[in-house]
Amino acid sequence: MLGPPGAGKGTQAERFAMGHRIPRVSTGDILRDAVHAGNEIGKVAGVVMERGELVSDDVMIGIVTERLGRPDAANGFVLDGFPRTVAQAKALDSLMAGRDPLIVLDIVVPESELARRLGSRMICEDCGHNADGKETEPGRCHFCGGKLTQRADDNASIVLERFKIYQRATQPLVDFYRTRPTFRSINGAQPLDRVTTELAAAVAAIANGGGGVR
Ligand code: AMP
Repeated sequence: MLGPPGAGKGTQAERFAMGHRIPRVSTGDILRDAVHAGNEIGKVAGVVMERGELVSDDVMIGIVTERLGRPDAANGFVLDGFPRTVAQAKALDSLMAGRDPLIVLDIVVPESELARRLGSRMICEDCGHNADGKETEPGRCHFCGGKLTQRADDNASIVLERFKIYQRATQPLVDFYRTRPTFRSINGAQPLDRVTTELAAAVAAIANGGGGVR
């Protein structure tokens, strides 16, 4: 699932993964867990993430190779936040050899709307879920009761840096994938449920032969 910060990748990836009983693999979540755990990857990634920059391709490709090799990913998975560079996309193509074709969905949202969303986004300190308006207790996550807080890298100046890096490093991925029959653009500025429906329809069409085989 491609798209700029704030496009709704996480929410849509989670919905799709739950509906299809496949894992959602969020590289941002994996890195945030590593930072919390204070392990070697976390120590390196924490500094980079605080600046809104990208963790190195080598580290990211290593993380994803290990994660997609686990048994729960054998029948499919949703990738959220990976690939973010053309080098990562090429590595992913190699990892996909012998598997079903990769379906690439680009969630498109105007930048003014993204800035508004990120400025008001709150996440749970404990389980990482986005606040979604279903909270029964103000300021508390409706999944686990944890405290809701702003993500450190959703701060306005870091958001600008993340947009710049997205334009420079990640936007070229759209051109890398655009000509594939398994690529679709989705209008992410629509209401959440509408995006979920369109996304599911796009995947179904591709899986039913609309996308051909690479
Ligand atoms: P996200 O939760 O996807 O917005 O990711 C949060 C931060 O983690 C990003 O701003 C990057 O610093 C880092 N990150 C996540 N995924 C990747 C990736 N595929 N390549 C490089 N850095 C990443």
